[in-house]
Amino acid sequence: MALPTTPHSPGRLVVVQPLKRKRCAGCLRGPLSLLVLEEGAPRCLDCADLGHLVFLPRGDTALTRRSREESTLSAVVVRFNRRRSRYERQGVLVEEAALARAEARCLADAEARRRRRARDARRRAGEDERFAAAFTAEILRLFPGCPAERARAIAAHASVRGSGRVGRSAAGRALTEGAVISAVVAAVRHVDTAYDQLLMAGVPRFEARRRITPAVESVLRGWQGAGEDAG
Ligand SMILES: [Zn+2]
Repeated sequence: MALPTTPHSPGRLVVVQPLKRKRCAGCLRGPLSLLVLEEGAPRCLDCADLGHLVFLPRGDTALTRRSREESTLSAVVVRFNRRRSRYERQGVLVEEAALARAEARCLADAEARRRRRARDARRRAGEDERFAAAFTAEILRLFPGCPAERARAIAAHASVRGSGRVGRSAAGRALTEGAVISAVVAAVRHVDTAYDQLLMAGVPRFEARRRITPAVESVLRGWQGAGEDAG
């Protein structure tokens, strides 16, 4: 069972987490939790001049990569997996100062990402607000009798980002009459009719819609004419 890379290959030191109890061939200390194989003989990290390095477990790819970049001397830590018959990476050994610098770089990145996310969120909130205002205005143009509060609620509901509701669709974005009317109809259906109760009572959706159609039309007529009957 050969190591993936021999301990002496340039630029890549390999440190082993032994499965069996091993002693250092140099200082006889043991059992060793980590060892280096030199000419087949186990050595403790101190004898191998790696005792000053700290262990960074695998898992954080960016931190690992940067720690090794920052570290003059680093080693890969492996352990043999008997079931798979192969050595598997457990982490790296790096200089403590290198790890600290790498952590600082990762933190700076995380902070930059957090600031960018906050900026994006503010920009999106602004867009959403402008869109909801335009949507409200369009509802009131088509339905002058609709109470302004209802129009605002319908527009806000329809323009919730990422909801997939009509306001976020391409048609809603373009504020087409069709999109605005569907949003208003949907709101009236749920708020001003027994639609939701019918659905809860097990009435099939299309049957429920058929039953509440007169109620929806009546509300819409009221809102379209600002009190006048368009009839
Ligand atoms: Zn030793």
